[in-house]
Amino acid sequence: MQLTIKKHVAFFQRHLILLPNPYEEHDSERMALGFFCLLGLDLLNALDKVSEEDRDSWIEWIYDNYVLINSNDSNNKYAGFRGFAAGTTLIPVEQEPQLAATSFAISNLLLLGDDLSRIDKQAVEQFLSLCQLPGGHFKSTASTMCCDQDMRQLYLAATIATLLNISFPQTELSLQYIIKCQNYEGGFSLIPFAEAHAGATFCALASLKLLVNFITIQKQSSLDKGSVSKPYQFHDYIPDKKKLLVWLVKRQQSSGGFNGRTNKDHDTCYSYWVQGSLQLLGASQFISHNDVKNFLLCQTQHNFGGFSKVPGEFPDILHSSLGLYALAFDDAANLPKVEHAICLPTRRMPNFQHVKKKTI
Ligand SMILES: [Zn+2]
Repeated sequence: MQLTIKKHVAFFQRHLILLPNPYEEHDSERMALGFFCLLGLDLLNALDKVSEEDRDSWIEWIYDNYVLINSNDSNNKYAGFRGFAAGTTLIPVEQEPQLAATSFAISNLLLLGDDLSRIDKQAVEQFLSLCQLPGGHFKSTASTMCCDQDMRQLYLAATIATLLNISFPQTELSLQYIIKCQNYEGGFSLIPFAEAHAGATFCALASLKLLVNFITIQKQSSLDKGSVSKPYQFHDYIPDKKKLLVWLVKRQQSSGGFNGRTNKDHDTCYSYWVQGSLQLLGASQFISHNDVKNFLLCQTQHNFGGFSKVPGEFPDILHSSLGLYALAFDDAANLPKVEHAICLPTRRMPNFQHVKKKTI
């Protein structure tokens, strides 16, 4: 079975124009929904099917969701993006800048060819500082009323800092948080002492990979484990790499697909989370690429285009773009080269001379 490129392109084009009913409950996540469609088209080398006019109007819509919050104290000015505009003049929690919407908005702008020049980078730096918690992880908004506080938010903050080339607040605190999240099985959890999960594991490894760019080599000794030579690589911070590798490889099921936790069923998106983790570790040779390919192309690729979460279900945009991304890890001939730590084709990454380093 081949990748049905034309059907997938039509699938993402349809969804960019009109989302079916099941997406109604995700209305507040429009920035993310748009990202999965644009990413899918770019992975298929089909972003040129989007007219210049549409690109321009989407860029304007994204900037309409840019929120700069000014307080009387100019040091407390902070900025980021929200997931959608609800049309109210007040700023309730959902209208405040959010880490997820900010990360997706920046990625969308890069996919659409914007230069990010309208973003006040210093104000976003302040936003990241306000979201960091004393434990090193992050909350999803600067508001005290926000509830998402875990590894996902930490990863989003690391992505934003990398894509904007701004400072990361307190790197050492976040590194310590990640280290605490490897559990007895070998995988990482969203919060310390919780269940190992492939999504959390990817977020942990990708965050480590991004965060080591923000610290000076001298200061890395503050996290010294005593057995590694400098300069540190990101995987030197993993408490038990062997256990992690065994746990990741065990995620591949007899179907060829991957599950995200012990004793769970396979699911298309874990082809991305698990393979992404193994790619980061340089250990993708320990799984069967042919089996993953067969699972995706023969079992979850849909006749109408797109990929479903599990065989036999209707496709959705998240599993469709992450399914394509998983194929791109191992298919340089037909799909574009992709980043491992950030969910973007390499050609969309901003071209910085060097990443901003900060002494911790
Ligand atoms: Zn899934």
